[in-house]
Amino acid sequence: MELEFHGASGETTGSCHLLRAGGKTILLECGLFQGRRAKTYARNLKLGFDARAIDAVVLSHAHIDHSGRLPLLVQRGFKGAIHSTAATRDLCDAMLSDSAMIQLRDAEYLSRRRLIERVRGQRVGPAGHWRPSEDEPPSRGVSNLGAREFAPLYLEEDVRATMKRFKPHACGEWFAIGPQVRVRLHDAGHILGSTWVELEVRERSGVRRLVFTGDWGRAQPILRDPEPLRAGDVLISECTYGDRRHPPLDNTEAELEAAVERLMKRGRGKLLIPAFAVGRTQHVLYVLESIFERRRGPALRVVVDSPLAKRATEIVSKHPECFDREALARIQRVQSGASKRLHVSFTETVDDSKALNRESGPVVIVSASGMMESGRVLHHLAWSISSPDTEIAIVGYQARGTLGRKLVDGEKEINILGFRYDVRARITTMNGFSAHADRDGLMEALTPLAPQVETLFLIHGENDQRLPFARALRDAGFARVECPRDARVWRV
Ligand SMILES: [Zn+2]
Repeated sequence: MELEFHGASGETTGSCHLLRAGGKTILLECGLFQGRRAKTYARNLKLGFDARAIDAVVLSHAHIDHSGRLPLLVQRGFKGAIHSTAATRDLCDAMLSDSAMIQLRDAEYLSRRRLIERVRGQRVGPAGHWRPSEDEPPSRGVSNLGAREFAPLYLEEDVRATMKRFKPHACGEWFAIGPQVRVRLHDAGHILGSTWVELEVRERSGVRRLVFTGDWGRAQPILRDPEPLRAGDVLISECTYGDRRHPPLDNTEAELEAAVERLMKRGRGKLLIPAFAVGRTQHVLYVLESIFERRRGPALRVVVDSPLAKRATEIVSKHPECFDREALARIQRVQSGASKRLHVSFTETVDDSKALNRESGPVVIVSASGMMESGRVLHHLAWSISSPDTEIAIVGYQARGTLGRKLVDGEKEINILGFRYDVRARITTMNGFSAHADRDGLMEALTPLAPQVETLFLIHGENDQRLPFARALRDAGFARVECPRDARVWRV
């Protein structure tokens, strides 16, 4: 077997691992890099291998940092099958379309603002403080949009071509990639449809097995628990939280309740919750509903502002096999507006979304994207981040270089879509919502496999998490633990 790691090596985005085995070239994931716009755009354009040479893709789950470059792969000539669960395929259909649409909208928005700025800049001078129009959020100074090209990586037509290549499989069902390789997927308890991957290669010397964790989940109130990992000769594991322990979920619910309490006490302003539209959004609604079931006092208005949310409802209902039944019933109750004390609504159009900009509140807005890199949440941030009446609850992992990470790190001045804003909003980080296992969860899943694993590769983790975790795993009995840093070839 030969392995090359083309992304998520020393970071958490851009998962893309190339495997040559049994005469086939197989890609595990084909994800998007996330981070500063110009730099990540250039990284995303470069695949690092010939798309036409890939025979098949095995996709562990739908998160965009794992699936987001599939349309680019197809655009560049990939003709094979994309293997995943049916739920992952359905989510990718919604999410990749959403990703194409957001890329196009952001490109249009940035180009339009640059044009307005150029015309106004000539009128008021380069240092003028101005407000572009009633329709634009208040910002400070002149943008740094420059003369850069803002082009989407792919379009909806590429997404349509990509969806035709999906081949769905049930968990536990073996499928073949050529005569020498077979694969099966197992429940990973991370998001709807998420899996870990077991792969067997028939070689002259016997059968060799590779196991890939995908994103390793944890017991969550909504999803089924992960199925225990099996050993392979080669093991590839994520380590997002390789050196951190999550606070218990109960604490996190209390933190969210405290944020709601602050909002109600102020009686105005916004509690903004940037969240991935499928998975985290449902989890947040679930917790809010349970808070309001026992809480006295007035009802709370919650607006879910994400174009994906409507489709998410359909997808969730289509895949009861992935859920805890009781939790599913509660989610459906919230999403259908049947909850008495929590008035949840979903925006549909851009105008619905814009109407929220000038709203005085109190209101909770849940909006994507989770790392605040694209999508409608950027517009909400632009309108509200400089107001002390805003609180931003960060409920998901924020990769290095993303706007979300800057807020977590306490930066007081940030850049949104090319403009500077002062951060006057209260920023609250709630790590307990994570859909990733923490250090203890990963140790518990991996340690029993140590005697049978020849080589363990750690990916999908920043080095401050990965390097201490590698040491801990060596101490726990793993003979060889590697932390790939680039796309070199590993023969294993
Ligand atoms: Zn994930």
